[in-house]
Amino acid sequence: MSAPLDLRFLTSATRLAQLPETRAEVAVVGRSNVGKSSLVNALARRKDLAHTSKTPGRTQLLNCFAVGEDATFVDCPGYGYAATSKAVRQSWQPMIEGYLTGREELRMVMALVDGEIGPTKLDVQMLEWLRHHGLPHTVVATKHDKVKSSQRQKRKRELAERCDLEPGDVVWVSAAKNVGLDRLRDLVRLWLDLT
Ligand code: GDP
Repeated sequence: MSAPLDLRFLTSATRLAQLPETRAEVAVVGRSNVGKSSLVNALARRKDLAHTSKTPGRTQLLNCFAVGEDATFVDCPGYGYAATSKAVRQSWQPMIEGYLTGREELRMVMALVDGEIGPTKLDVQMLEWLRHHGLPHTVVATKHDKVKSSQRQKRKRELAERCDLEPGDVVWVSAAKNVGLDRLRDLVRLWLDLT
């Protein structure tokens, strides 16, 4: 079993310029309710860590965590929440796009997709946007435990296809049932050059 990721909350930022200096960074994006907070908590084996990002006023911010000595992990605000006002949506896009395209130290974007319901139109748009900008990204499918075992092979093929990927390119996880978390932690360490 791999050690939990040592994530320590650093700061919340409204834009790229406010983020702390770093050597290497991994970002996580996904629509609201995809399971992002649960996954961040599970990677760190903590119950409360990503709640920091859910406190009122912080949901629309870039929440930055230290990982290891000199690397960082940024939890980006969830997109596509129906109750979000138009004004919030309009400020979200430039912030997140400015961050993702402007952060030189960004090594990988983890693009979360709900494994139970598959990629939404917004998820596909996000992947197209990441590809258009040549940003390194990995699709992480959440809630593996919610897919019946008899359906899994088919679902994995379909989800990958809709993301324009091969099934082996998608990292499947369950924060609830501890599936794929060791592998994802190892990948994060690899992306960040942490030993
Ligand atoms: P966020 O809005 O992306 O931060 O999503 P949350 O982490 O708050 O999760 C949204 C909902 O999905 C919550 O009801 C979680 O309990 C549930 N959820 C998240 N991860 C899993 C998982 O691995 N398995 C199951 N069964 N439910 C999950």
